[in-house]
Amino acid sequence: MARFIFITGGVVSSLGKGLASAALGALLQARGFSVRLRKLDPYLNVDPGTMSPFEHGEVFVTDDGAETDLDLGHYERFTGVAARKTDSVSSGRIYSNVLEKERRGDYLGKTIQVIPHVTNEIKDFIAIGEDEVDFMLCEIGGTVGDIEGLPFFEAIRQFSQDKPRGQCIFMHLTLLPFIRASGELKTKPTQHSVKELRSIGIAPDILVCRSEGPIPQKEREKLALFCNVRPDSVIAAQDLKSIYEAPLAYHREGLDQAVLDAFQISPAPRPDLTRWEDVADRIYNPEGEVKVAIVGKYTQLEDAYKSIAEALTHGGMANRVKVSVEWVDAEIFEREDPGPYLENFQAILVPGGFGERGTEGKIKAAQYAREHKIPYLGICLGMQMAVIEAARNVAGVKSAGSEEFDHEAGKKRFEPVVYHLKEWVQGNAKVSRSAQDDKGGTMRLGAYDAVLTEGSHVARIYGTTAIDERHRHRYEVDIKYREALEAAGLCFSGMSPDGRLPEIVEWQDHPWFIGVQFHPELKSKPFDPHPLFKDFVRAAKETSRLV
Ligand code: GLN
Repeated sequence: MARFIFITGGVVSSLGKGLASAALGALLQARGFSVRLRKLDPYLNVDPGTMSPFEHGEVFVTDDGAETDLDLGHYERFTGVAARKTDSVSSGRIYSNVLEKERRGDYLGKTIQVIPHVTNEIKDFIAIGEDEVDFMLCEIGGTVGDIEGLPFFEAIRQFSQDKPRGQCIFMHLTLLPFIRASGELKTKPTQHSVKELRSIGIAPDILVCRSEGPIPQKEREKLALFCNVRPDSVIAAQDLKSIYEAPLAYHREGLDQAVLDAFQISPAPRPDLTRWEDVADRIYNPEGEVKVAIVGKYTQLEDAYKSIAEALTHGGMANRVKVSVEWVDAEIFEREDPGPYLENFQAILVPGGFGERGTEGKIKAAQYAREHKIPYLGICLGMQMAVIEAARNVAGVKSAGSEEFDHEAGKKRFEPVVYHLKEWVQGNAKVSRSAQDDKGGTMRLGAYDAVLTEGSHVARIYGTTAIDERHRHRYEVDIKYREALEAAGLCFSGMSPDGRLPEIVEWQDHPWFIGVQFHPELKSKPFDPHPLFKDFVRAAKETSRLV
């Protein structure tokens, strides 16, 4: 039976609760325990799939096709444990389950209430698979005191009471602001936050305090006294230059030891931190630098492309170079020549996206990379744009475009080289969609197999011809155009096993030009960089040597 660690936040949002949870997961693994991390989000969307990346950052997709919060990406990157549908839930999903049961008559005769019906639904979710791991880490989104978070806090309080004593602990993350004028670190907001938590029946066992600098002993003791925790359970979390130092930094501060002490696990197994020492060494001691341009739409919020930025960092670590990323707004290239913007980069990446805005600019970026022999990685929409560019400018399909854009504009302007797929195969099952489907959860989602062409660039890069990668898209490249495009030199080097869906394209005579219909960035880890990102950065490094 798993032990449970509930992670909550207070004072302000964006303190890095997800990262702290992920780093703690990694530290418990380093001590030989198995872990699973889970996120419970109080918002009312059924899942984040329908939220704008501007608002909520990227949508992270799991192998089993769930559209989840980007914190699950942190969890996977730090622990290597593949997240599942059952590792992410929102109030929207919980309420929708409860209401479905109510309509079905599961609670016949009863008045449906937040306590116990909603809280029971949350508790059932927390307990899924509890026999599979040593530790289950459950992070509650938002901050204590939020109205919508209350049912979750009540549920974890009840959950810890339902379990035998000592099987659940609570870790609370707060902020210690530094007041420059008086030169003081302030503990009052943390005291209030803990008071709020205790008023709903939760007494934290561990306090993780974010601060710009170190926390002096005096403040530590004060926090321990006023918040009723042990002084060695007040953990300082200082700002770090790289998130990948977090496991080592938290270990130095004694977080994993404090957690094991709280569970009274003694003697504590010794940690093996060599994986994280190597990661930190690679990130802090690069031997060079490459500059990569990400030409996209959601460039104001870096979280919108979180996994891509991380995967590039991992690719850099594998090649011992620092990858400097610059975000370039694709729309600029609809008015101006891309040359002056892109000539200083060693590689160009066009990421995924939805809708027509910026797409003509992305097509220009793909054309620039092809013509100037600059390494290009096109991901999902970035692959579709590379195919449209090839069709228009090399294969002579002058009006090539995507049905997605005509669908939005309500008129037919393009020859649909990329079209809306209505039926496909997943494993042994057929999946069908219609144009009128709901927007949420109706794309081609999750892991699909692909077969790579022997002797292709990608087969060399992956070192195999059988792969599986995660998808999240509605539109596909039409194989009707395969012959014309291959005659022009764009090779379809990865296909779905039934040969119907193009998964990878590459220019044969280009040093590195690859478009993938899936999202390789979702599977990259600092200690196991994704082969495509590793080789993309290698190619960029090569380009930097040539100039
Ligand atoms: N909008 C495109 C589609 O739905 C690409 C999606 C993406 O890049 N994730 O097919």
